[in-house]
Amino acid sequence: MKTRVFYNEKMKKWFEGVEDQGVIYPEVDPFHTVFRFADNVYSLYEENVTGGSAMWMHLIDGPEKALLVDTGAGIGDLKGLVRKLIGDKELYVVNTHEHWDHVFGNYQFDRVWCHPYAVPWITDNYMRPDVWDRFLDENGRGLKRDFVREDFIKFRNYALFVCGEGDSFDLGDGYTLEVIYTPGHASGGISVLDPQSRILFTGGMHSDNTVISGVNKYYPNECTIDAFLRGLERLESGYSGRFDRIFAGHEIVPLDASYIRDEIQACRDVLADHGCYEASWDTGNGLMYRHMVGEAGIRFTDRSFGE
Ligand SMILES: [Zn+2]
Repeated sequence: MKTRVFYNEKMKKWFEGVEDQGVIYPEVDPFHTVFRFADNVYSLYEENVTGGSAMWMHLIDGPEKALLVDTGAGIGDLKGLVRKLIGDKELYVVNTHEHWDHVFGNYQFDRVWCHPYAVPWITDNYMRPDVWDRFLDENGRGLKRDFVREDFIKFRNYALFVCGEGDSFDLGDGYTLEVIYTPGHASGGISVLDPQSRILFTGGMHSDNTVISGVNKYYPNECTIDAFLRGLERLESGYSGRFDRIFAGHEIVPLDASYIRDEIQACRDVLADHGCYEASWDTGNGLMYRHMVGEAGIRFTDRSFGE
């Protein structure tokens, strides 16, 4: 993909301000740009294959082991790039939630951890070799962006392991990462807290673009504004004061920790008054609404309030 596509003007402006800090290793993987926004974290930027909001994966390089947060769309050679960055150090791979743009790179790895509520979605829909067909025309060329079928990794089965609230990953020498259950954007949503670097990795929660669809056939009550608020309140009451920055899975990195408070307010506003929004548009599948508090916002539908 030769030209960059940005989700909105805000993201374009921000990215152009940091772009010269990014490094590409074209001989390994031309599809990811590597940034260092923290000493021991590599943040890997991936253009969205559908032309939508670009993806971040974050690689936390601990004393003895490393942990990769999310795996993107499966384009390029993410595993090769990770090995270039951390050598043969033992690696954990974690999905922050079950959406395709965070899990289609899983096939390069033998073992991947996710929340139990992400498992049925991934196993029912994504354990099959044709998952990339949706992005390709009949000649194997990208429908929305400039790439070909061969740019995607090969399908391979892998083992899913589960992790949830209270679990942790030990990267050696006392360097421990904590798992926090943060549903709402997806039923199997988790955040990963690195208290040593004082960073929270949030995956699905990001800037003004957090979609709360209210639609999930497995765990519908975990994809509502109410569920999203519960997760945010858990972060605020149980973990605030232990992180200063948020590294999300899309858009601007880092966000300030105060973003959580603004998101909480946005949820409370909408739950108190369902008509509280500044913008709405037709997605072709019903109306989407957006409510902002400061830089933080939520997007929701009529189904986001639950049954
Ligand atoms: Zn998502």
